[in-house]
Amino acid sequence: MKCRLCGSVKLRPYYHQGSQRQYLFYRCLHCKLVNLDLKNVDIISNQQKYPEQFSPPANYEMEISAGKAYEFIVKYVPVKGSYLEIGCGNGALLYFAKKDGWIVKGLELSPVLAHFVKEKLAIDVDVQNFLETEYQAEQYDLISLRHVLEHLPDSLLAMKKIYLLLKKNGYAHFEFPNIESLSHRLQRFREKFGFKKKYSVNYFPAHCNEFCKYSFKYLLSKSGFKLIRWETYSSKFFSNLIYNHIHIGTKARAIVQKI
Ligand SMILES: [Zn+2]
Repeated sequence: MKCRLCGSVKLRPYYHQGSQRQYLFYRCLHCKLVNLDLKNVDIISNQQKYPEQFSPPANYEMEISAGKAYEFIVKYVPVKGSYLEIGCGNGALLYFAKKDGWIVKGLELSPVLAHFVKEKLAIDVDVQNFLETEYQAEQYDLISLRHVLEHLPDSLLAMKKIYLLLKKNGYAHFEFPNIESLSHRLQRFREKFGFKKKYSVNYFPAHCNEFCKYSFKYLLSKSGFKLIRWETYSSKFFSNLIYNHIHIGTKARAIVQKI
């Protein structure tokens, strides 16, 4: 097996998941990407199970995580214009951006979610896999992917597509799990000493690649982007007071710029 980001064959087993410990994750010694071994894993049908969990928001103003994501964007993206969210889900982030004056558009794999967002928020959403889109190049000032990047086997291809869709000096915004977070480290530590996490027999991994700051920066360096801002966070308020100073939060968010 080769690292899906840098091609190195120097990978070491990092952790297992699944009721039979049948899902193996390897860490690349060169770029530090954590790669799920996709042999015998049907990642596409695993990912298609997500929209079934959809429940419509009662009040978009109360969509806290999307509101926080938009605050982060406002703080570090100095322009306002055209905005694409890839994997827009229930449309909560686009809701905040549209209200603030952005011209917004969404892409969604789920027709159910896309229809819901169009009807509820009057936002244009295409049902499409962005890796297969043939859109006109250089049309967006900002592109967001929240908890999408880690699901895509070929992250370099994803970044190349985002690069083409962005205008000159355009920005991209990402959220994904931080594999170097304190909780991930503790879990790996516990597993090492035999305290095995229990998984249901139906558990399946949906993340192909897990990033830390190092591997994310490596991805940017290979795809024509520079890092503007990296933060880690959690959904717990008090933890965030700490994570503002020490970057060990369970999730990462970043703003990057096309160069
Ligand atoms: Zn690598």
